[in-house]
Amino acid sequence: MKILVINAGSSSLKYRLFEMETEQVLAKGVADRIGIGNSFLKHTGKKEILIDKNLPNHEVAIKEVLEVLTDPEYGVIKDASEISAVGHRVVAGGEYFTESIIATDSVREKMRDIIELAPLHMPASLMGLDACRKVMQGIPHVLVFDTSFHSTMPDVAKLYGIDYDDYKELKIRRYGAHGISHQYISEESAKIIGRKNFNLIVCHLGNGASLSAVKNGKCVDTTMGFTPLEGLIMGTRSGDIDPSVVQYLINKKGWDISQAISYLNKSCGVKGISGVSSDFRDLTTAANEGNERAQLAIDMFSYRVKKYIGAYAAVMDGVDMIAFTAGIGENTPEVRERVLDNMSYLGITYDKELNYNCPRGETVKLSKDDSKVLVYIIPTNEELVIARETLRVSSK
Ligand code: ADP
Repeated sequence: MKILVINAGSSSLKYRLFEMETEQVLAKGVADRIGIGNSFLKHTGKKEILIDKNLPNHEVAIKEVLEVLTDPEYGVIKDASEISAVGHRVVAGGEYFTESIIATDSVREKMRDIIELAPLHMPASLMGLDACRKVMQGIPHVLVFDTSFHSTMPDVAKLYGIDYDDYKELKIRRYGAHGISHQYISEESAKIIGRKNFNLIVCHLGNGASLSAVKNGKCVDTTMGFTPLEGLIMGTRSGDIDPSVVQYLINKKGWDISQAISYLNKSCGVKGISGVSSDFRDLTTAANEGNERAQLAIDMFSYRVKKYIGAYAAVMDGVDMIAFTAGIGENTPEVRERVLDNMSYLGITYDKELNYNCPRGETVKLSKDDSKVLVYIIPTNEELVIARETLRVSSK
C-alpha cells in the first residue's frame, strides 16, 4: 500500500511517497516558491530532477507532483491510482482535534475555526488540503495534527494562570507543537530502553524548538503554548517573555500589536540576540571567530533548554532518558555540550569526544554506561509518523 505524505507551507509543498509494507521512501521532493515566481519542483525518485515550472497555486503544484511521480523516467508509480491514501501534516488541532482524522467537508469547516490559533500555518495547511482533495478524489485524506501528542497534558500543565472562565469560553490554553516529532522520538526511545514505563525528555531543537516531558509514553508537559511562540529561545522567536514587554514595545516603537507579535516571532531569538543569523552553523562559525553576541546566543539558547530539563525532571519525579533531535539537536554539539555539562545532580555522564565526532543522521548513544540517565541523539522522522497514522486511520 502506497501513502503520500504532504506538508504544505504557504509557498511550498513537500511530499514523500511511502511503500507501507516496508516503510520505504519511494520518492520525495518539494514544490517550492508556489505563487511567488521562479517556482520549481525538486524531485528524488528513480532519478533526481529539478523542474523549473510556473506553479501559481497549490493545485497546479500537486498536479505537477503527480506528473513527476508517474513519469516513466523519474517517477516511481505507473498511475496516481496506486496511491491509497494521503496524509496531511496540520500544525494546530485546537481542543477539537486530539487525534488524526479523515478529512471531510465538516472536518474542514472545523479547521477554519482553528486558523486563529496558528494564523501563520493553518491557511497553508488548508490550501494544501483543498488542492489535494480536489486533485486526488476518492481516497482518504488523513489529517495528522502537530498538537495531538500534547493533548494528554494534565490541566496543571496545559492551563495558564488566567481566569478559568476565559479558558472555557475562549479556549486559551497551552496546546504545544511539533507533536509529530515528539511522538516519533518517544516511540523510538521506548524501543531503545525496551519498556513503556519510563520518564523521557524530548529536546526537539530545530529552527522552531520545543521540549516535551513524556511519562509512560504520554506527554505531560511541553514548552510551546497557545502558539509556538512560548518556551525555548528559537531561531527567530523570543520564547518565554513577560507580556508587559509587548505593551512597552508598542509604546516605545509606535507599533501596533501585530507588529509587536511579528517582531517576537521573526526578529528575536538567536537571530536577534546575535545579530548574525538564526542558523546555528553561522552562529558556531561566528562564535569560533570570537563574535561575543553569537556566543551569547548559543549560551542563552542552551541555558533555556537546560532550565526546562530541570523543570521536567522535577515534574516527572526524575528522568530516565533525554533525547536530542531536529536540525540543532542532531547537528550542533556545542549546544548539547552546554546542556549536558554540569548535570551531575541528575547523574548524567556522557562521552564528550563522541558528542563532537558522532556520525550524522544516525541514532547515537551519548551517555556513558555509568550515567543514571540515558542520553541519545535520535534523528526525527515526522513523515513516517504521518504515513503510519494515515495507514492506521484510513484502514479503520
Ligand atoms: P525546521 O524544520 O524547524 O526549519 P530544522 O530541524 O531543519 O528546523 O533545523 C534547522 C536548524 O538546524 C538550522 O537553522 C541550523 O541552525 C541547524 N542545523 C541544521 N543542520 C546543521 C548542521 N549540519 N550543523 C549545525 N547546525 C545545523
